[in-house]
Parts: sequence; structure tokens; C-alpha cells
Amino acid sequence: MNPSILADNGPDRDRFARLESRECVNHYNETTFSIPTVMHPDLPIVHDQPLAGLNTFRIPASARRYLRVTGAEQLTAVRADPALADLPRLVLGGGSNLLFTQDFDGLVLHMAGQGREILGQQGDKILVRAQAGENWHAFVGFTLDQGLGGLENLSLIPGTVGAAPIQNVGAYGVETKDVFHSLTAFDMASGELRTLDAAACRFGYRDSIFKHAIGRDLIVLDVTFALPAAWQPNLRYAELANAVQEAALAAPTPRDIGAIVEAIRRRKLPDPREIGNAGSFFKNPVVSNEECRRLLETYPNLVHHAQPDGSEKLAAGWLIDQCGWKGKNIGPAGVYPKQALVLVNLGGAQGADVVRLAQAIQSDVAARYGVALEPEPVFI
Ligand SMILES: Cc1cc2nc3c(=O)[nH]c(=O)nc-3n(C[C@H](O)[C@H](O)[C@H](O)COP(=O)(O)OP(=O)(O)OC[C@H]3O[C@@H](n4cnc5c(N)ncnc54)[C@H](O)[C@@H]3O)c2cc1C
Repeated sequence: MNPSILADNGPDRDRFARLESRECVNHYNETTFSIPTVMHPDLPIVHDQPLAGLNTFRIPASARRYLRVTGAEQLTAVRADPALADLPRLVLGGGSNLLFTQDFDGLVLHMAGQGREILGQQGDKILVRAQAGENWHAFVGFTLDQGLGGLENLSLIPGTVGAAPIQNVGAYGVETKDVFHSLTAFDMASGELRTLDAAACRFGYRDSIFKHAIGRDLIVLDVTFALPAAWQPNLRYAELANAVQEAALAAPTPRDIGAIVEAIRRRKLPDPREIGNAGSFFKNPVVSNEECRRLLETYPNLVHHAQPDGSEKLAAGWLIDQCGWKGKNIGPAGVYPKQALVLVNLGGAQGADVVRLAQAIQSDVAARYGVALEPEPVFI
């Protein structure tokens, strides 16, 4: 790590201390604190905001009301405004895990808060915080620039920092939960700020409290990561381990691993700037060990990975590929030829086109393997 960054972070530490001092109620794994009363800022609400440029599938849709959110004060003002408070809400980051199937008849809160800071060392971890609207990949690059490892396997994932905990973003053997310290969320129900640690976030495979009714009122404002002070590469994922071996680096740095992850991803995945998509369209289904054995009797090449709890995770991309969908399309919605798990907008697709293709794939996989595929993006 660049030592000058740590040496310079006195004000950051003060900021951390100020934040802590506002605590007023302690819950298990969670701290609640009220925000200071502020004059309500003017809210630059946009009417009928087009959303095609704000989702990576590039599906045309519009929002009845739209607000760029840079801080908690605006959310307090939204709560206080009767014309806004009762509207259906959609929190929007980079729009890379969403599928618009219709216009959004409510208020889109587009998270735009910027800022990142190294808070200092705590035990064997370095704490780094970023605001929700920061671009995820740029934030990973920032940590690598400081010589900090831990996030390199998550390089080149589109979207924002604030969304990373929502589905416990993961890639190449690392999930957000593995490098997570805590986050600050604004509770739209109570108007309070809450600090949640990993246990309070209830992370699971592509899952967290924020995807369930109990966490739906929480809007993530900033996220703090705990990165190892003494870094070791995480090469548990075979494809990454092989690529690192091929690169024949004597002592790979976090930056080297990040560059290798980027190269693999660029080879396999479509760039949303060129082809509309939301990354993996289906979660890898998790089945019991018995179910997996039953399938293996008929399909000995079935790709599966044993889970710590004894269940088995099946490769959804393999199941879709075996059903013959790779490179196929229904109208303007298609299956990416290099990766069957990725559905793409071939040009001019509506949300309904993507849904039709997804349903056709789901019913083929269910008919052949008896396995239900669950979409990963959030349908709006
Ligand atoms: C090419 C490509 C590759 C991808 N690869 C991966 C991958 O390897 N691993 C992976 O896990 N995902 C991957 N994704 C999916 C996506 O990038 C991640 O899920 C990302 O975290 C979504 O971030 P976002 O800011 O775009 O969220 P959005 O799509 O804007 O929102 C996603 C969900 O999070 C909620 N949300 C967003 N911000 C906040 C906030 N601040 N507070 C509360 N709720 C919020 C939204 O309401 C919505 O429900 C990929 C997507 C693409 C297009």
C-alpha cells in the first residue's frame, strides 16, 4: 500500500469518528443513528425521465419521476414531501442488473454520491470506504492503485459500489461478503441512518437482506470494505489459476491478478456499451446431493460444484448450452454465442422480448433436467 495515503488520512479518521459519535441505539450487529435536522434542499425532480441510457440492457422505458441522489438529506426531503413519499420507489445504480418490462410509474432514486477514502488499519485489515454512486470497477482500480489487494477478482463488474452488497456480487471465487466490513443505509421507513455489518446484511449466494421485505426500505449510501493488510492471491477458481500460471509471473501482484481477470472477462462477456445485456441472466441452480447424483446417472458430463453444506451448484450456462440455446434468438433477444448464461439485446428489444426468450429457456431446461432456473436481474 502507498504509505502516504495512510499517513494522510487523519481527516478521514475524524470523519469516521464523527459518524460513530452519532450512534443512539444499538441493535444486534446493527447501529441506528438519526441524522441531524437540515433545511430541506430543493429537489430537482425530473418528470418522465427516459431510462434506456440508464440500464445496460438498453431497454427503452421511462420513469414518472426521477431524482439524482447525492446524500441522505435529499432522501429526508423525499420522505417529507407528500407528493413523493407515497410513490413506488426504485433505487437505481448503474442499471446493470435490471430488466425493465414496462415504464416505471413512480420515483427513481438514482444513486450518484461520489467519494472514496482509506480509513486506516484495523487489526490485520485496511478499511476503505466508498460512496454508493462510485463506479465499481473504478473503485477496484483505486484500491489496486494504492497497492491494496482483495477486490482484484471482482474487476470489470459493471455497476456501482452501493449495489455490490445487494446481490452479494461475486466472481472468480470472491464474493462481496468476503471483503465487506459494513455499510451505511438510509431507512426510508424511519428516516434514520443505519450501520449494518456483514451478519446484519445476511449475505447469501446472490442474496442479502436488501432483496427481502425486511430490507426493502434500506438505501445504501456508502460501503466500507476490509481488505487484507497481508495479501495472498485467491486462485481457488480453476480458470483464473490456470491463466495466472500461463502468465508465468514470479510474484503476481493484486494489479496483475486484476489485469488477468479483466482479460478473461473481455474474452467471454459482451461489453454492454456495444451489446445490451445484464451479465449472467440466471443464477446457478443449487440442488441436493441426491438430485445431482440422479442427474449424473443420465448426464455424466453435468457441470456441478459441491457446496460447503453438502448441496451441489449446477452450471446454468452448461444446462442452457446443452439445450441448444447458445447463439440462438427469439426476435431481437438472443443468447450470447460465447456464453450461454448471458442474454443480449440484439437491437431494438423490449423487456417483453427478453422475458419471452428467458421463459423459453427456462421451460426447455425444466423439461430436460427437471431443474428450475431463476433469473438473476431484477424485473421492473
Ligand atoms: C457484462 C456484465 C457482467 C456482470 N458480471 C457480474 C459478475 O461477475 N458478478 C455479479 O455478481 N454480477 C455481475 N453483473 C451484474 C451487475 O453488474 C451487478 O449485480 C452490479 O452489482 C449491479 O450494480 P448496479 O449499480 O448496476 O445496480 P442496478 O442494476 O442499478 O440495481 C440492481 C439492484 O440493486 C438495487 N440497488 C442499486 N443500488 C442500490 C443502493 N445504493 N441501495 C439499495 N439498493 C440498490 C436496485 O434497486 C436493484 O434492485 C454483471 C452485469 C453485466 C452487464
